[in-house]
Amino acid sequence: MAQLIDGKAVAARVRAEVKAEVEQLKASRGLVPGLTVVRVGEDPASKIYVTGKKKAAEEVGFNSWEEHPDESITEDALLAIIDRLNKDPAVHGILVQLPLPKHIDSERIISAVRPEKDADGFHPMNAGKLSLGKPALRPCTPFGVMRLLQEVGCNPAGKRAVVVGRSNIVGKPMALMLLQADATVTVCHRKSDLKFEVGMADIVVAAVGVPELIKGEWIKPGAVVIDVGMNRMPDGKLKGDVEFEKAKERASFITPVPGGVGPMTIAMLMRNTLDAAKAT
Ligand code: NAP
Repeated sequence: MAQLIDGKAVAARVRAEVKAEVEQLKASRGLVPGLTVVRVGEDPASKIYVTGKKKAAEEVGFNSWEEHPDESITEDALLAIIDRLNKDPAVHGILVQLPLPKHIDSERIISAVRPEKDADGFHPMNAGKLSLGKPALRPCTPFGVMRLLQEVGCNPAGKRAVVVGRSNIVGKPMALMLLQADATVTVCHRKSDLKFEVGMADIVVAAVGVPELIKGEWIKPGAVVIDVGMNRMPDGKLKGDVEFEKAKERASFITPVPGGVGPMTIAMLMRNTLDAAKAT
């Protein structure tokens, strides 16, 4: 029977570490890290996420601001906001909450953020550095998964890791981080034989967005299972991408949904913003 990985507790630890470093930074350099979240329009899910991010930023002692332009803002006007934030020395991290309205080219906006202030780690420069194995601000969700693995004493070196999903924000950077940690990495997608690949894995990271796609009986006994999936079910409950009840019979460690990877994403955003401030 697997041990549960308590993402809430690990995230609280990460925030406490960040808070302690913020206090040191204030004492040694008089520097207070600043995070600005840009939220366009009234997407209800974005509002919840942004509230969580602002709360965490305040908890760790950052200055935190929100830019909240109307849904009808033009791309040029949004670029002007980004340009102002890029030039503001009090702002060390800029996060553009996705999705943006359809008339705005998200890639153009993300690319306009200065890479040194790219708290989400989505800028092409940071993505490129990650693929080159160079230090960079890293996408928060896979960065959080690496911390969870570390917390349960799972060193990926020499292990077979299977990442299901190849999105630019989770699957691909996850695979690169595991590779950098010396795992042998396989990335799966719609054309993959999931049962075969998952069955070979010492570490399984599921980032798909299909409830319980990864069957418990596929899991290699003793594997570490990390479920990034967050699927809202008709009854309002959240379900992961892994068939949790059966997978936990075979895994050594497993993340629950909710309470596994979810809380880590915001905690690692705090870590990225602190690192961005320290680098100035
Ligand atoms: P995404 O952009 O939709 O990518 C999904 C990936 O899964 C794609 O690469 C897709 O393959 C693959 N896939 C979909 N159906 C599949 C199937 N039947 N068999 C095999 N592969 C399949 O999703 P995402 O943004 O990476 O998010 C994935 C999940 O993580 C979602 O549930 C999301 O809510 C969750 N998430 C959680 C957090 C968090 O903080 N915990 C953060 C981000 C995302 P193809 O490339 O072949 O289409």
